[in-house]
Amino acid sequence: MSEVSRRGFLSSAVAGGLVAPIAAPALLRLRSPVAISSFNGLKAVEIAWQRMTEGWRPVDAAVAGVSVVEDDPEDDGVGIGGLPNEDGVVELDASVMDGPSGLAGAVASLQNIQNPAQVALKVMRHTDHVLLVGEGALRFARAHGFPEVNLLTEAARKKWLEWREKRSAIDDWISPDENGEHGKAWFDKYKHKTGTIHLGAVAANGDVGSCTTTSGLAFKLAGRVGDSPVIGCGNYCDNDVGTGGGTGRGEASILINSASFLVQQMGLGKPPTDACLAAVQRVDRLTKIKRLRDDKGRLNFQIQFYATNKKGEFGSASTYADQFAVCDDKGPRRVDMASLYGEPPPK
Ligand code: ASP
Repeated sequence: MSEVSRRGFLSSAVAGGLVAPIAAPALLRLRSPVAISSFNGLKAVEIAWQRMTEGWRPVDAAVAGVSVVEDDPEDDGVGIGGLPNEDGVVELDASVMDGPSGLAGAVASLQNIQNPAQVALKVMRHTDHVLLVGEGALRFARAHGFPEVNLLTEAARKKWLEWREKRSAIDDWISPDENGEHGKAWFDKYKHKTGTIHLGAVAANGDVGSCTTTSGLAFKLAGRVGDSPVIGCGNYCDNDVGTGGGTGRGEASILINSASFLVQQMGLGKPPTDACLAAVQRVDRLTKIKRLRDDKGRLNFQIQFYATNKKGEFGSASTYADQFAVCDDKGPRRVDMASLYGEPPPK
């Protein structure tokens, strides 16, 4: 076991006692479990893979992996340290899905709880519901003993404050630094900034599970919910087929029901990368409004899709060039994803 994996054992998912070993006898013997995720999940896929080799159920392994990213204050798109909404309040979305039971759980617009994916797991296992939002989700998390913390780090608060001050010339917020260190380019960078982790997990017996967790779009409207907690959009799995998920512009993902589309495409025989490319093409075909295209008519936003199938094959595709993380018996690594335009996202 590597040093990283060993440290990973201390993740809060373990502390929360979320382990549920796979009971069923293996029907389909893979060479190795497989975990894939967005770029920011290199450590997460290693932890998820390690857990599956120890017999953890894929959904629990996935949550153990993403918990490490939720706990990282340096990642400004997930958990603590996530960029807040336009009011300066961090609101988190997350979902989990378990292949063997076909059940899912999710939370949206959840404040003050660092590990929303773990709360989503509780929704799946301790309620007859799929999705809890806002105050109700917070009360549910409290009932399960999740501690309340201030999710807004100083770094995230400062970014938000600068964004707020520079946002408009017709309100009473004033930026003392109008032409200083952070000019228009800095401001543009945070317009619709994304950041999320999706993790798809396939155990050695072919069982699957998946998870997506995020702070959503930076400076979103209060109460805005993206694709991550919407089952069938930012996250989906089917134990007969595989897993699918997305990151990036959540509105586009919701409008094509992307994760369920990915799994359906694989069910019809497409390999994972082709299924992901088909989803990007579907976003392209169904995005009809002009403001979401550049002057060459190309989509002006990044969206990434991820898929694994029951055989342990995996793939990913996006609008603009990017990488994803994967771990199998060859170890954790980043891999280029297929893309529609083959060049880096617009600045
Ligand atoms: N898909 C997420 C959302 O729209 C954002 C992201 O992936 O960065 O909330």
